Amino acid sequence: MHHFRYVSQRLHCESVDLAAVAQLYGTPTYVYSAATMADNYARLLKSLAGLDVQLCYAMKANSNLAVLRHFANLGSAFDLVSGGEIRRVLAAKADVRRSVFAGVGKTEAEIALALENGIFAFHVESEPELRRINHVAGKLGVKAPIAIRVNPDVDAHTHAKITTGKSGNKFGIPLRQAAAAYEAAAKYPNLTLRGVQMHIGSQLTSVGPFVEAVQKVSPFVAELKAKYGITYFSIGGGMGIIYKDALASGEAAWWDAQPADQRPLTPETYGAALVPLLQPLGLKILLEHGRFMVGNAGVLLSRVEHLKRGAGKNFLVVDAAMNDLVRPAMYDSFHEIVPLQRDTARAALVADVVGPICESGDCFAKDRQLQEVGEGELIALMSAGAYGYVMANRYNTRTMAAEVLVQGSAFELVNARETFEQMIAGEKIPVFLK
Ligand SMILES: *Cc1c(COP(=O)(O)O)cnc(C)c1O
Repeated sequence: MHHFRYVSQRLHCESVDLAAVAQLYGTPTYVYSAATMADNYARLLKSLAGLDVQLCYAMKANSNLAVLRHFANLGSAFDLVSGGEIRRVLAAKADVRRSVFAGVGKTEAEIALALENGIFAFHVESEPELRRINHVAGKLGVKAPIAIRVNPDVDAHTHAKITTGKSGNKFGIPLRQAAAAYEAAAKYPNLTLRGVQMHIGSQLTSVGPFVEAVQKVSPFVAELKAKYGITYFSIGGGMGIIYKDALASGEAAWWDAQPADQRPLTPETYGAALVPLLQPLGLKILLEHGRFMVGNAGVLLSRVEHLKRGAGKNFLVVDAAMNDLVRPAMYDSFHEIVPLQRDTARAALVADVVGPICESGDCFAKDRQLQEVGEGELIALMSAGAYGYVMANRYNTRTMAAEVLVQGSAFELVNARETFEQMIAGEKIPVFLK
């Protein structure tokens, strides 16, 4: 469920008319709903009632400072993957002390920054990394809390680029080698064994792989608790969201109409399956959801430049492009596209929705049926709150888009559109070319 819907045929985010946002701040612009994020947070925690749960929001999904501040206000900590992300959490005046630091290639400087700011735990992906963290902790004269990421070798049945829990992925230590890794870790003088972690992939749409992974890893987790007194088990993130019926899925009626055997994964299904498996462990459970928390809480607003009618093919050329939202080009992913002004009297149009970039991959949708829209009219790409702005780039010398946060009838620019001067500020002509 989310807070994007038509009010008098105009698409609103909570109580804000999105066309007004586009008028004020231009396009392309990302718009986020604070209420949707708060609902997602509350719903996830409620579905895991009975467990001692800490959400470490995977901020790589959307790391705007306002989004971080909002999650911190809700009580969330963070799953961090770089020194830059640690600095963002600090800049948002949020809590590093309950946050965890993941990633396969943490540098010594990043490890030191995390330790200096009292990180809750490092999620360690390899034995060389144990050695490195021990070394940095020793230099600083502190003990580094760690958990090892185990790879349960479970097929998450998701896109190859976002599967992480199969053997053959670069992530984690295979379950059968994990006991030896903990033994090695226990011998380092500057490490404290605090937990165990896994994360099997992203955009999972059924609970089966989560259950399989928890079942596979739980006996090992119980052993670690007995042997080393670990205090938590992080089961990672990965819960999927609705992309195909994104707008409709904002209404309870849409969920009620889904046949029981085809119902998309919900936090309630996730909780019902996992709570009974996790409860007997008697450990704190960390969650690292990213996409689920923010994906359906954001849209990308764009303006139509042209409707180009071709022989047997129409192209709707819009002012957003693959640099603003790379998911369709990178993962062949689907984003629902809707007009900001709905007009049911208008004809339907079948078109490829494309950006202006000189790449045939710069295409948001192929042969998509939409309401006919023309030059200057506004559209929204739905479900763009996760892995949207954070993956954007400046290809074709296009500046970074603006970001706006809505709460109720209030909205504010939370990241100004980049200017050309900002974009080229670090560049210069070298002396030998002058
Ligand atoms: C990316 C990532 C997550 C979040 O994944 P989502 O699919 O966005 O929930 C959680 N944990 C780890 C270790 C990750 O790499």
